[in-house]
Amino acid sequence: MHEDACIVRTRPLGDPGRGSLGLSVVIAMYNEEESLTELRDRLLPVLEATGLGFEIIFVDDGSKDGSASLVERFVAQDPRIVLVRLKRNYGKSNALMVGFSQARGERAITMDADLQDMPENIPALLEQGQYDLVSAWRKSRHDPPLKRNLSKIFNRLVELFFRIKVKDINCGFKVYQRHLYKSLRLYGDLHRMTLVLAKMEGATFTEVPVEHAARKHGKSKYPLFRARGIWDLLSLSVMGSLQLRPFHFFAPYGVVLVGLGGLTFLYILLKTLLGSGASGLAHTLLIMFILLGVNLFLVGLQLETVLNLFRQEHPFQQTIKELVTHGQPQPEVRASGER
Ligand code: UDP
Ligand code: MG
Repeated sequence: MHEDACIVRTRPLGDPGRGSLGLSVVIAMYNEEESLTELRDRLLPVLEATGLGFEIIFVDDGSKDGSASLVERFVAQDPRIVLVRLKRNYGKSNALMVGFSQARGERAITMDADLQDMPENIPALLEQGQYDLVSAWRKSRHDPPLKRNLSKIFNRLVELFFRIKVKDINCGFKVYQRHLYKSLRLYGDLHRMTLVLAKMEGATFTEVPVEHAARKHGKSKYPLFRARGIWDLLSLSVMGSLQLRPFHFFAPYGVVLVGLGGLTFLYILLKTLLGSGASGLAHTLLIMFILLGVNLFLVGLQLETVLNLFRQEHPFQQTIKELVTHGQPQPEVRASGER
């Protein structure tokens, strides 16, 4: 029988079912063809040994090599494997969001497709089931020294900015409880910051030491020049304060500035009444205080509106091209003689 007989293509939308499986493994992949067969072959026995129902969701982030067609073959052979193909390359955060949106698991495991995260470490992560988020900590990391050292600095900055103790903020190998992975909103490079986002949501987390492997095939898709974590760190620390009510964040500063404007106005008025007249500087300050103060009010209101829109929309859903699942053979593609 033609392999396509077991493949069903759909354009999926929405959350398919509530926690109907134990585990969903979500794997973002971009040009990882050479690693995928070994990844699948090592992953399946580990997942089977957990005794939990599971699915493996490969999200193809616009690969230009044979990654997607290879995973299509996996899907044809195994109904527990799913492929979501994106229209083009959008980056890992978006790929993970798409994977989370399709996941049915009580827990989701995220891991890279390049075999740097080792499937054999999954049981150690699953053991810490009492936490909302369990994150792998690559104790001896097999990446270039400069990348490792910058990561160390980045970990310390995260501790400083967000007052959390982290050993390995940037590790993508994690286990999330369903309520957490369904509520995450990742975009840009925020996939590196999920421990911080989890903390902002009030979730509990722990880090578990794991082994880490060197990349066997292909190149890193996140070389140093793509590492823009510092901007995420800064924007997130501001966003943390803004998250719930931006207007509440900006309005007090607006009041202070307008208040200063009021005082400057009184000063100018007094000086004018006394006949000595106020300096040009006082007039400039008056205009600046009032304009900036009113502006801060408006920025707060604008952000509040934008955030409300964002809460209603799920832009990552728009990036899906098709969902490939294992299905019953369709009559028209059955081999002749089959019933
Ligand atoms: N990845 C992706 N989209 C991208 C870049 C990367 O889905 O635009 C995937 C990639 O295939 C891998 C994971 O994200 O599975 C992490 O990427 P990589 O291993 O290149 O990053 P590094 O480990 O070097 O930081
Ligand atoms: Mg890697």
